[in-house]
Amino acid sequence: MHEDLIPIRQAVLARNPGEAEFHQAVDEVFESLGPVVARHPGILESAVLERICEPERQIIFRVPWTDDQGRVHINRGFRVEFNSALGPYKGGLRFHPSVYLGIVKFLGFEQIFKNALTGMPIGGGKGGSDFDPSGRSDAEVMRFCQSFMTELYRHIGEYTDVPAGDIGVGGREIGYLFGQYKRITNRYESGVLTGKGLSWGGSLVRPEATGFGTVMFAQEMLRTRGQSFDGQTVLVSGSGNVAIHAIGRAQKLGATVVTASDSSGYVVDPDGIELDLLREVKEVERGRISEYAERRGGRARFIAKGSVWEVPGTVALPCATQNELDGSHAKKLLDHGVIAVAEGANMPTTAEATRLFQDAGVLFGPGKAANAGGVATSALEMQQNASRDSWTFEYTEERLARIMTSIHDDCAATAEEYGMPGNYVAGANITGLMKVAEAMMAQGLI
Ligand code: GLU
Repeated sequence: MHEDLIPIRQAVLARNPGEAEFHQAVDEVFESLGPVVARHPGILESAVLERICEPERQIIFRVPWTDDQGRVHINRGFRVEFNSALGPYKGGLRFHPSVYLGIVKFLGFEQIFKNALTGMPIGGGKGGSDFDPSGRSDAEVMRFCQSFMTELYRHIGEYTDVPAGDIGVGGREIGYLFGQYKRITNRYESGVLTGKGLSWGGSLVRPEATGFGTVMFAQEMLRTRGQSFDGQTVLVSGSGNVAIHAIGRAQKLGATVVTASDSSGYVVDPDGIELDLLREVKEVERGRISEYAERRGGRARFIAKGSVWEVPGTVALPCATQNELDGSHAKKLLDHGVIAVAEGANMPTTAEATRLFQDAGVLFGPGKAANAGGVATSALEMQQNASRDSWTFEYTEERLARIMTSIHDDCAATAEEYGMPGNYVAGANITGLMKVAEAMMAQGLI
């Protein structure tokens, strides 16, 4: 790390004790910024980095709700409004028992740079709760969402802060949240949330966008080496929204996707994942992934321990959660001849694993670039809402494809410009930082 950045990093660590994931996200960005501060002294002089690491606003609130037996539960709600230099705060809500301030801050911090990379007018934010939706009835999830929104509504708005989904928050939850916002405010403010249903302000392609975009980004990386998805053996982790659409897109391009996973274990399906069955088990029935193997007629195996990264494959798409792919997994993947890794999830690869891939010359697309298609399409949803219009699937998909190609090209060009050709991590961090820093410097000391 550049010596001028070390004291800034130390101050961030001291001010945010115990927030390991946030520290990791900050370190990953700071490791890339040496050549930037050397070339643009204004960034240090105007304390842009100190400011960027301190959220503009952090909201923590109580979320009381009753389960179907009438028992009272108390969860904690969060919204971290990190940076509004480029537009209203934008980023998802995560409902998962692991959520605490450090997770929300890591996600919000990533979101600043990711959103900048999309070229859309959106700032960075993130939120969520330690609520665990698994095993809860629709009525319980609805009561939780209504209680969550009863506090959150006062902090958000089409020009202020626009939440969306993340882990544990999909179309069902966005529906309950939107309904409660509308009821409290008496405003049909479509642009206050994204990821809405199609008939009430949602955008075509939004459900597919993160997974599709991740594959599009990987495709662009492969293209720089004269390769493609055709004939690749692809490993996907996760079986949520991102994983499902990454699998579908990779298959369409001629790849064989042999894995998927959830928190209970993973499946290996050497003939290729049967996507309709996976969707039935995970999206419709909200079941465990072992049921996929049971219903696949002996063709797939379920493994309760270990991880998909132990399976041989040539392209890896981690689409589950943070730090799911560590150094030992990276070594396995390298032994098996992996040529490309693109992060569909946020920060799924540890710092050590990232270094191993980069040292070995593997194409590595960091999440803030590779999974930016989701939030980019959220911004397209906001555009449609603002103009009270809805676009066709083809047009929206074409816009997404153009955004992903330009993110790829911007990252590649910046990496080249700063003397690190092929380093998409540096390319993404520097491109994102420069866009936000320029806006912050232009807007004065805010
Ligand atoms: N949670 C998604 C992400 O990590 C999407 C955010 C959004 O659409 O606002 O980028």
